[in-house]
Amino acid sequence: LTILGLESSCDDTAAALVRLRAGERPEILASVVEGQTALHAAYGGVVPEIAARAHAERLDLCVERAMAEAGLGFGDLDAVAVTAGPGLIGGVLSGVMVAKGIAAATGLPLVGVNHLAGHALTPRLTDGLDFPYLMLLASGGHCQFLAVSGPEEFARIGGTIDDAPGEAFDKTAKLLALSQPGGPAVERAAETGDPARFAFPRPLMDRPGCDMSFSGLKTALLRARDRIIAEKGGITVQDRADLCAGFQAAVRDVLAGKAARALAACPEATALAVAGGVAANRAIRAALEDLADRAGLPFVAPPLSLCTDNAAMIAWAGLERFRLGARDDMALAARPRWPLDRRSPALIGAGK
Ligand code: ATP
Ligand code: FE
Repeated sequence: LTILGLESSCDDTAAALVRLRAGERPEILASVVEGQTALHAAYGGVVPEIAARAHAERLDLCVERAMAEAGLGFGDLDAVAVTAGPGLIGGVLSGVMVAKGIAAATGLPLVGVNHLAGHALTPRLTDGLDFPYLMLLASGGHCQFLAVSGPEEFARIGGTIDDAPGEAFDKTAKLLALSQPGGPAVERAAETGDPARFAFPRPLMDRPGCDMSFSGLKTALLRARDRIIAEKGGITVQDRADLCAGFQAAVRDVLAGKAARALAACPEATALAVAGGVAANRAIRAALEDLADRAGLPFVAPPLSLCTDNAAMIAWAGLERFRLGARDDMALAARPRWPLDRRSPALIGAGK
């Protein structure tokens, strides 16, 4: 099976080709990702209208590049998979329209994919992980624990009740005048910092369950920063490093602490997997790996290029659905919201 995947739900325009041959490991034949960071830089965030327009302009070219890289024509494909949500609706619509256009012109079957399912199934593409496993998806827009027991079987065990951790890293960087995206900048600054100098809370750790909260950490950081400024008239490089180290340690403790509970709630899990940009953080990764070790489970963290938004994960998730017999048609709807743990495929197009 060879599947073309399209992704355009946020600020990355992507096309990829994934092939699975009987008895072999899946293969990524091409994976093209065009970021839009420069287009949105002046606005301090992703502007949905600009994103949608760029996707509409660039998707065709990304598909062409992916096909050329793989040396394939449409006749070599078995299906077209596309992110049908959740995400910024203009971008999702752009992708769904391009996929429908390809399907109509070539007669290829169309398979709608939930973007989060793409992230959640990536460890099967990269590491051949078997079901069931526990997935922590921690990115700029999401944070949740998912028990993954089949290509369309996801149970949400808990998640953030406010900000996503990546968002908290980004806001922290903004408050400390570090560069964006904030995660890597905060991680770098934290390397020379003392995590114990400032007391950061560990939100919701005193409550049962696997829900998390990150917005309070940002407030704690803001207060600590303003206290330093009030006392000394400004903040030094060392102050900044200490603030970053304290903040990062708090996020790490919350993610690892709640992951321990999620594992306990999901005793059938055969591995702990992570995805999303925050999984790039070495301190967080190490804490999760340590947790998995202690539980006697493998820890799977796909390479960063497949942890952040890409189309290979969409092609793969589409392939998993396709081999179960899933097919969509021209009625496939673009959905801004699409929670994973509702048995979604049958509901496509049936939503409001
Ligand atoms: P989503 O996929 O949920 O719509 P997104 O596209 O913003 O959101 P990703 O591309 O997966 O998410 O990840 C980007 C986020 O990951 C940013 O918020 C960024 O700050 C964060 N991030 C990247 N590297 C690191 C790091 N080393 N430490 C912490 N956070 C990081
Ligand atoms: Fe994503």
